Amino acid sequence: MTWLTRLVGFDTTSRDSNRELIAALGAAAADAGLTPRIVPDPTGQKANLIVSIPDANGSTEGGVMLAGHVDCVPVDAQHWSSDPFRVDIRDGLAYGRGTADMKGFDAAVAAALPDMAAGPLREPLHLCFTYDEEIGCRGAQPLVDALQAAGIRPRVCFVGEPTSMRMIRAHKSINVAQVSVRGVGAHSSLTPDGVNAIEYAARIVLFHRKRCDRWRAEGPFDDAYPVPYTTGSVNQISGGTAVNIVPDQCVVTLEWRSLGELDDAAEIAALQDFCAGVEQDMRAENPAASITVEMIASAPGLDTPEDAESVLLGRELGLQVCPDKVTYGTEAGIYDRGGVSTVVVGPGDIAQAHKADEFVSLDQLAACDAFIARLIRHLRADA
Ligand SMILES: [Zn+2]
Repeated sequence: MTWLTRLVGFDTTSRDSNRELIAALGAAAADAGLTPRIVPDPTGQKANLIVSIPDANGSTEGGVMLAGHVDCVPVDAQHWSSDPFRVDIRDGLAYGRGTADMKGFDAAVAAALPDMAAGPLREPLHLCFTYDEEIGCRGAQPLVDALQAAGIRPRVCFVGEPTSMRMIRAHKSINVAQVSVRGVGAHSSLTPDGVNAIEYAARIVLFHRKRCDRWRAEGPFDDAYPVPYTTGSVNQISGGTAVNIVPDQCVVTLEWRSLGELDDAAEIAALQDFCAGVEQDMRAENPAASITVEMIASAPGLDTPEDAESVLLGRELGLQVCPDKVTYGTEAGIYDRGGVSTVVVGPGDIAQAHKADEFVSLDQLAACDAFIARLIRHLRADA
């Protein structure tokens, strides 16, 4: 059975445990004579995996990191032509959930384990597999922390999200905020007794919309992106219980995806300040009212220069740089901020990700296998 078939066979939808898949990868590393490090999350339901292959002198300083997430998005309410958790090959395309995003890359790394372990390396190689990428890159920071704690400091990282095997240097950040507005319920004929959570939440919706309009009109701009400015929207809202009750709660979920020039921390602070002002107005009506702002996802953007170490190594290994910047987020920004020069490159096309009948072409998988084989040869040269 190929590694792609094995990995797709584990249903690792983000809401579920990934431990069986991580255990299988860990066992394969151990079989190859390598030392797997399984790093569980606080619940123990999920884990990251680090397999660090030291250089010929036993050092894990520097070296190349290959990073992939192992979770995938749900297949709920999608109509698939075949079982999404069983790889089905038709006309040179391998269908299955996660084939493109991004178990194809994970499988290529797993298949190369024996080759990686076969002889001494001139520079270390670090294999990293994460949980919960699809729900806000939640596994990546704990991974960075675990690498630091273990004294592993890669100099270059390739994140294997589907890019048709071209290097992507830049993508926007992603920020998702959940604002919970708690008012005071009352019979709707007695409005002065209540504090209307929906009406106050509407102010926050408008605040966010106005700043999105400002980003669109005033920039910053970067024409390398298909949408050349920071975008944002309010994507979920819920509140109220009946037509004749002043609503005591309203929850608003909003997001923005920004260009590197925008200071996300300042934008988060601006949202919090605005909400604090609304809260003050609510409390003037009734001190029991409150607003909380929680960032439920936050991943920095990526803006790796043309002459960065990761780009140069990728070129040396035969990869081309994609001229475009992309709007989707990845874990790459987190690794890059952690001090590792990072680019995104992996088999398959993002256009197939998250959809029914997701697929990766066998040609793309072969191109990824060849890239990893070249990388191993490169790291072994002159050892
Ligand atoms: Zn992905």
